[in-house]
Amino acid sequence: MSHTAELIAVGTELLLGDIANTNAQMLSQGLSQLGINVFYHTVVGDNPERLRQAVAIAKTRADIILTTGGLGPTCDDLTKVALAESFGKKLVRHAPSEQRIRDRFAAMGHEMTENNLQQAMLPEGCTVLDNDWGTAPGAAFTAEGVRVILLPGPPWECENMFRYRAVPFLQDLVEGVIVSRTVKTFGIGESAAEAVLRPLMTRLQNPTLAPYAKPTGTELRITARAQTQAQALALIAPVEEEVKALLGEHVIGVDVRSVPEVVLSLLRERGLTLGTAESCTGGFMAKLMTDLPGSSAVFRGGVVSYTNEVKANVLGVPWAMLEEHGAVSPQVAQAMAQGARHSLGCDLAVSATGVAGPGPDERGNPVGLVYLGLAWEGGCYVKEFRAGNVARERVRRQSAQQGLDLVRRKLTGLL
Ligand code: ATP
Ligand code: MG
Repeated sequence: MSHTAELIAVGTELLLGDIANTNAQMLSQGLSQLGINVFYHTVVGDNPERLRQAVAIAKTRADIILTTGGLGPTCDDLTKVALAESFGKKLVRHAPSEQRIRDRFAAMGHEMTENNLQQAMLPEGCTVLDNDWGTAPGAAFTAEGVRVILLPGPPWECENMFRYRAVPFLQDLVEGVIVSRTVKTFGIGESAAEAVLRPLMTRLQNPTLAPYAKPTGTELRITARAQTQAQALALIAPVEEEVKALLGEHVIGVDVRSVPEVVLSLLRERGLTLGTAESCTGGFMAKLMTDLPGSSAVFRGGVVSYTNEVKANVLGVPWAMLEEHGAVSPQVAQAMAQGARHSLGCDLAVSATGVAGPGPDERGNPVGLVYLGLAWEGGCYVKEFRAGNVARERVRRQSAQQGLDLVRRKLTGLL
């Protein structure tokens, strides 16, 4: 039997737009991984009457209600009162929770104000969800055929309370296991990926295949439901192969995080080092690599050659070439990469030179035109990349990713 959950996020600051409802996103992802449907998200301000109305509606269309927020000690924290009333329950003092709250304050060396004890008032007969990540306990109960789960608002608390307290409370509703694997791609948009995969997506039922647009490419999540993990993975495997075959060289890996991460592991596997020579990206490629722990084993360093002087004097790009072709040219991209390889003493060097914007350069090159170079022992490759007339930040970010993708391509035999 399938189950339907409804999320009610409580907090006026959500309605005012002061904060985004990230708890709803996290909870929806978690519930869908359990195979529980989520058809509605509601956001209500700190108003008891409107919260009761939202609960009354949710009861009619869901058999699981999760709330977040409003469990704290202040007078706008009214979720428990409203939910208890909606289900005809009283709030009763829960002595172990009261002791936990007292102990928590004592451990922090803070004076506890009396209003904190409100947090130990919980719906009668509920399962108390101990909060090891904050002060306010959560609560779960079943009434009128509905499972009700009250979680705190702070995202860190909410996430842990969901994973370690709410999921066990829902476990008996979940049949078998749900397993997902994500094929990561680079440089292909959601609509292009979907066009290729549409027939497969329509045909599939278990596993399912869903595309998710990300800034650098599209993620394809394959999700299977089965009795065991091994059975689910066996259902996923052939679909994973089919997706990889259909998307070809756009695929950077399965359950990997990013192009820089793939580049790091490929370089490590092969015992190779990398360096960068960056003009328009201003060190972005070096940042992406050095953001990763363990990058010192493979990343030698980078030169931000923003001016022609540095391109010529540090990287050895010939002045005549700079004058004849201009800094934004395939010739200069190649010479920058070769120069960086030489001066940084690395096996591979990647370069970027282009027009980040907001306007065209003095030679009339348009915003978003970028040349990316890659040099290795005995060879070089230059790619012309057009980010288009987009914001400066975006040109730089995309170019940096494209530059590192050249390294991936070289190391996987695609160049
Ligand atoms: P506290 O004990 O901190 O008062 P609480 O359970 O009463 O916790 P709220 O007071 O509603 O929760 O929210 C506490 C903080 O958590 C908010 O200021 C906000 O930063 C964050 N928060 C609340 N709800 C959400 C949400 N739905 N998504 C993301 N963040 C949220
Ligand atoms: Mg609060």
